[in-house]
Amino acid sequence: MSTSVKMVEAPEGHTGSGFFATSFDKVIGMARANSLWPLPFATSCCGIEFMATMGSHYDIARFGSERPSFSPRQADMLMVMGTIAKKMAPIVKQVYLQMAEPRWVIAMGACASSGGIFDTYSVLQGIDRIIPVDVYIPGCPPRPEQVIEGVMQIQELARNESLRRRNTEEYQLLLNSYGIQ
Ligand code: SF4
Repeated sequence: MSTSVKMVEAPEGHTGSGFFATSFDKVIGMARANSLWPLPFATSCCGIEFMATMGSHYDIARFGSERPSFSPRQADMLMVMGTIAKKMAPIVKQVYLQMAEPRWVIAMGACASSGGIFDTYSVLQGIDRIIPVDVYIPGCPPRPEQVIEGVMQIQELARNESLRRRNTEEYQLLLNSYGIQ
């Protein structure tokens, strides 16, 4: 018995990506944005402010992020908070590499963003020297409202990100610039 495959042709004049690649993208983006699982990599005082953000007063559960994950495999939002010593830098990078795509990174506070007041030989002067950062939250420490604002900015990225963005040549070049394959 012979079988034949019929190709469905796109409607005349249609040049877009089609339903699957547009509306489906939106649904997935919405689900991702409202269920971000943070991995808190807290080394010092900023971590305390994160704990306040998780508490009932600020209630990060309103944003679907109340479930912290201490396994990189089950997290999609790495939150680095606190001073990162140069000796600790390879660990931060290892944690990032162990997270599956799509993954987002927040540098919370002055220390994680730029080394903060610790302008010294032993402290990493910003985690963006070793991994890509999506959102920087300023402050020493930032207030919980700022942390929530940072999470909302990641939500915005997740909501609008195409399922295919992470495979683009541009994104690979960005990763390569950090020495990440
Ligand atoms: Fe502590 Fe300020 Fe550094 Fe946060 S930014 S870890 S509050 S010194």
